[in-house]
Amino acid sequence: MRMRVEQDVFVVRQLGREVARAVGMEQQDQTRLATALSEVARVVVAAGQAADVVFEAELDRVPRLRVTVLNPFPGGAAEMTPQLGQVGRLVDTLEVGDGETGTVVSMARRLPASAPRLTPERMDEIRAGLAQHVPGTPFDELSVQNQQLIAALDEVRAQRDDLARLNAELEETNRGVMALYNQLSQELEETNRGVVALYAELDEKSEQLRMASEAKSRFLANVSHELRAPVTAVIGLARLLNDPASEPLAGEQRRQVELISSSAGDLLTLVNDLLDLAKAEAGRIEPEWAEVDLRALFGQLRGTLRPLATRPEVEFVVEEPTVPSMPSDEVLLARVLRNLLTNAIKFTVEGSVRLAARAVDDDVEFTVADTGTGIPPELHERIFEEFYQVPRSRAITGKGTGLGLPYARRLVGILGGGLRVESEVGRGSTFTVRLPASRS
Ligand code: ADP
Repeated sequence: MRMRVEQDVFVVRQLGREVARAVGMEQQDQTRLATALSEVARVVVAAGQAADVVFEAELDRVPRLRVTVLNPFPGGAAEMTPQLGQVGRLVDTLEVGDGETGTVVSMARRLPASAPRLTPERMDEIRAGLAQHVPGTPFDELSVQNQQLIAALDEVRAQRDDLARLNAELEETNRGVMALYNQLSQELEETNRGVVALYAELDEKSEQLRMASEAKSRFLANVSHELRAPVTAVIGLARLLNDPASEPLAGEQRRQVELISSSAGDLLTLVNDLLDLAKAEAGRIEPEWAEVDLRALFGQLRGTLRPLATRPEVEFVVEEPTVPSMPSDEVLLARVLRNLLTNAIKFTVEGSVRLAARAVDDDVEFTVADTGTGIPPELHERIFEEFYQVPRSRAITGKGTGLGLPYARRLVGILGGGLRVESEVGRGSTFTVRLPASRS
């Protein structure tokens, strides 16, 4: 289009909008481009110049509509650029330069992805449509511009309302989050206070428990110590009464004195066991560490316990230890093994009782295995409690005190190891003592 007089500013504006619409730009972009173009036209016409306006569709990777305004502006690009003001904000690119035939203003705006493809046929159609375009009067153009202004203002107001609503929502959410946070920190604080109080109570209780346990051990040690002398005296006196050198007793009297003697014997065993356990619990047993010759120890156990294993149906076997020696306390270790072997013999009617020792990792394991009555699984820990005896488990010899296993476990603990049991009712039991093979 060629532009000469003031009137043409409106025409060029209308044409700009028409072209923008024809190539698929959205309403707002049409207005932007038309406004930018009419501003350039206004500046050119105000300077008393004519101009050529060219519309081109650039179909590159990013399709664009380019508008070029060619005019002999006095003073060229340098004079014109400052007068264009904010036009650059309305389009994607705006370039003003000096060409051979005058000043060249070139501006472009991207087409939306939704725009229909600009095939050669479509271009012909657009050209034909534009050729028939009848320009409206400036009055028409003013009316269109007003409509557009109203639409733009409406949109701005709608956006402002949206923003206010979003802000209100955000504020509300923030308040909710703060309330939740406060509630959570309050709950956390309360829980913490509870936990701290619980710990304090726990500390207090365990201190009380420790004191009670100490008092119990002290009491047991004192009482059993005090009982030992009179019980020993009773045993001595009973023996004296029954001595052939003493005055003979009547049949019934002799039986009663024998009863006194055996009861006192049981009592002494109990008192001795109690004293041992109390000493172990009070930490009054200090092991005497030395290299223990296990072969010799096993030989000694074989000799002292064989007389107890009197039943021909029970084979009593002390295997050769595969570990020749280890650092330990010989007396305490012997006491533990003797205790376990005595139990095994007591609760085995037929089969075997077997003692063995072997190296396992960095430890030595002693096993006392029998084919006796066995222990129900739910009692595997209880038998290590003081005085606990498996109900209806009938020992073949002697009554027992129920103190042997807790004592044995204590001693093994003092020697730096552990004592455990595997057992099945009717099949037998295996007690395992695990001790470190060397002292670290
Ligand atoms: P005691 O043998 O003096 O009763 P212990 O503490 O040595 O006391 O043993 C506790 C109980 O564990 C025994 O009364 C018995 O019921 C059970 N028990 C221990 N060793 C065996 C075993 N080898 N076979 C079956 N039961 C056993």
